[in-house]
Amino acid sequence: MQSPSGKPLPGLAANAPLPGQPRQHATYWLLAMVAAMALATAATLWWTLRQTHVLAQPHQQNDLWYVSSVHNELARVSLLARKVRAREASTQDLHERLEVLLSTLDTSGRGPRVSTQLRDALPEAAQDLDNLRPLVEHWSTKLAPLATQNGNTKAAIAITADIVRQSDPLLDRLRKVVATVHLFSAQEANQARQQLYQRFLVLSAVLGGLLLGTALLTGKLVRDTRLARAASQQLALANRQLEVRVASRTRKIEEGRALLSFILNTSPSDVVLAEVESGRVHFINRQLTEHLGLKAAPKTLFLPELLHDPETRERFTQALDRYGQVDAMEALIGEHAPRWSSLSARLIEVEGQLAHLLWGFDISAHKALEGQLRELATRDALSGLLNRRAFLERSTALFDHCRRHGQPCAVLMIDIDHFKRINDRHGHQMGDVAIRSCAQAIGNVLRDADLLGRLGGEEFAALLPHATADSAAVVAERIRSAMAEMNLESPQGQPLAFTISIGVAEMAAHHASIEPLLVDADQALYRAKATGRNKVLAYEAAIGQP
Ligand code: GH3
Ligand code: MG
Ligand code: MG
Repeated sequence: MQSPSGKPLPGLAANAPLPGQPRQHATYWLLAMVAAMALATAATLWWTLRQTHVLAQPHQQNDLWYVSSVHNELARVSLLARKVRAREASTQDLHERLEVLLSTLDTSGRGPRVSTQLRDALPEAAQDLDNLRPLVEHWSTKLAPLATQNGNTKAAIAITADIVRQSDPLLDRLRKVVATVHLFSAQEANQARQQLYQRFLVLSAVLGGLLLGTALLTGKLVRDTRLARAASQQLALANRQLEVRVASRTRKIEEGRALLSFILNTSPSDVVLAEVESGRVHFINRQLTEHLGLKAAPKTLFLPELLHDPETRERFTQALDRYGQVDAMEALIGEHAPRWSSLSARLIEVEGQLAHLLWGFDISAHKALEGQLRELATRDALSGLLNRRAFLERSTALFDHCRRHGQPCAVLMIDIDHFKRINDRHGHQMGDVAIRSCAQAIGNVLRDADLLGRLGGEEFAALLPHATADSAAVVAERIRSAMAEMNLESPQGQPLAFTISIGVAEMAAHHASIEPLLVDADQALYRAKATGRNKVLAYEAAIGQP
């Protein structure tokens, strides 16, 4: 058994068997031994009882009693026969004595009860006993008619003599039998006692074994009980330690969770964890909840729906599905007040469900700055007009649009006349004022749809969509007139006046792009300069000029 930290619990070795496991085998063995000893005890007891049962029916005693009785009765018959012969007793008495002897010999028709052992040991004596009954019957039968007569007749005397003659040797042999049966019985009794003693020895040994097994089993059970109690105490201790550790770890996890929640809620970034299928929100921080304009954390939220732009949403979902992650994707999030955010997301598994984990950093300020920088990069610092590169970019797009839709468009190329003189006479600063004022005046004349840019120095270009050469020339004339109406003054208070020249060109079939159109307008401007300045010349007109 191990503690939660992996260390073995005190008191229980790492590989020690659990209490009650292999020890149970020993208990079973002991139980089997005790049962076997109990069976053996029962068998031995039965065996011994059988012996004592045999001893309780002593056939030798029967033999002794039987032979002694027969001997005594025969002796009485012999004595009475002698008395009858000496006329001291009557034939009647002898006949009665013979009947008594017959009754001793007669054992309810079962014949003389002479044991087999006696027959084996003294076959002649047994034979005598067997022959005695017919002999006594013979005597009794002969004597019976004579017993009723008064006085001892000659016939009775003869029978009496025969009884005396035959009974004496018989009595001798029966005396020997009695002595032999005595001896034999004594031997049998000794043998039986010895056998009984041996059986009791065996019984004692078996009972001793049974007692030993029972004692061992009892000892084992007591020991097992103690071990089980000790093990259960250790288990209870280990359980308490485990509970304390679990409680401590649970507290630490909760503290960690609270800390993480605090960090995520105070983090300036947006954080949300929501299931993909159900949209179930596992966590959303306060920052994002507020940014979404919600008062409380939503129960469900489908992350892709946070993205404002459908195309970005598609890219976001595809990247997550395909690669399981999205890194620093810039997107507008939120529906009510969308704002720029740099999004990173991961597809992870939470509680067996696929979930989206998303972080977002607010980059609205960065995006605004980026827009400003982009705007600045397109503007000319002095005049505030589009710079040369931005003008060429945007005029290209506008030119292509007009061309695609078969709409006319025209270009004005504008240059201040003798600008060098302004610089030379009034200084560079005044030249800058003139450039700024000129740009403003041109801008005032043009429509919102027109594009105006400063191509360099004191040279401007304008692209007028939907304008023909004629209508553009009208606008150019208006610009040229606006210059005359400007009331600029030098630092010395002297009026500053200047003129401009403008070349006009309308989009034609040979203009594949804005550049050749600009070249044509520039050529017209060149002609305007060459032919006296302060004038507007269209390209066709300029071509026709010398
Ligand atoms: P023209 O009538 O033939 O155009 O004569 P011009 O004097 O205007 O000739 P040109 O176009 O060659 O001269 C432009 C001058 O503008 C040259 C340069 O010193 C000056 N210039 C260019 N950029 C600036 C600027 O930003 N500020 C000022 N003050 N002067 C500039
Ligand atoms: Mg000039
Ligand atoms: Mg110039």
